[in-house]
Amino acid sequence: MQEATKQKRMLRLVKSTNAIKSEQKPMIDSEDYYKQVERYAEQIRKTNNADEIIGILDIVLSETRGLRFSDEVFTAQEQVKRAEQKIESLKSELEQLRGLVQTDQMTGAFNRRGLEDIFKREAARADRNAQSLGVVLVDLDNFKQINDNLGHQYGDSVLINFVTVAKETLRPSDIVARFGGEEFVILLPDVEMQDALTVIQRIQNNLTKNYSIQADNQTLPITFSAGVALRSFGEHQNSVISRADKALYQAKRTGKNRAIPALI
Ligand code: GH3
Ligand code: MG
Ligand code: MG
Repeated sequence: MQEATKQKRMLRLVKSTNAIKSEQKPMIDSEDYYKQVERYAEQIRKTNNADEIIGILDIVLSETRGLRFSDEVFTAQEQVKRAEQKIESLKSELEQLRGLVQTDQMTGAFNRRGLEDIFKREAARADRNAQSLGVVLVDLDNFKQINDNLGHQYGDSVLINFVTVAKETLRPSDIVARFGGEEFVILLPDVEMQDALTVIQRIQNNLTKNYSIQADNQTLPITFSAGVALRSFGEHQNSVISRADKALYQAKRTGKNRAIPALI
């Protein structure tokens, strides 16, 4: 009996509090709101009466729905949301731009600038993991002749075909970059010299097989020469490419259409 009276009183209390709050529709800021929630939490902790807890929760719910956050809090929330959206769209625009700036538009390979960034990344990774990094300098053979005989546009398509074949033949982690004109650099992370020479030979075979030129009942093979260097620990891009270039020069001098390992 006594318990029932107590409960009624509490319910009345709960009701009256509810009525006052919803009429007033308080304008509060986040600090006030948390203080208020904490007061209700304290009340809940003090009781083990289920009805009372439910009553308190109802008040909290109705107050939360009914309250108007102060302009300050509301504006801040809106601003944060808008800032987040803006940052997301800026981020994707920047990523697109970075891609454009680092890509050779004609072939879709990385350009020299892209190569520099990727070389730094791959070199750091190689040093960190004590792995090798294969650096291959490629120069298409007799390219001037292809341009002269078949036109510049045809020459362009040969460059595009080279990149297509190289990407198809290589692993996804390998990198193809246009170094300039008809010269390309291929990065082969974690590779041994013999495997690097084999993979370059495979590109050569696929290119010659699929893209050689048929003209006047004659086949004009598309070939390239390559110098293959394995980067030493801490070695810079210029140094390793210069070693690959010397090997490439040897490949040209000794008959083209071949890959030669660079000296250390
Ligand atoms: P080698 O076998 O000794 O390398 O001879 P090559 O004819 O390939 O070398 P050379 O350096 O004499 O000629 C390279 C040619 O590549 C000359 C240049 O006009 C051409 N070239 C450079 N960039 C482009 C390009 O973007 N498109 C086309 N079609 N030709 C290009
Ligand atoms: Mg050249
Ligand atoms: Mg050439």
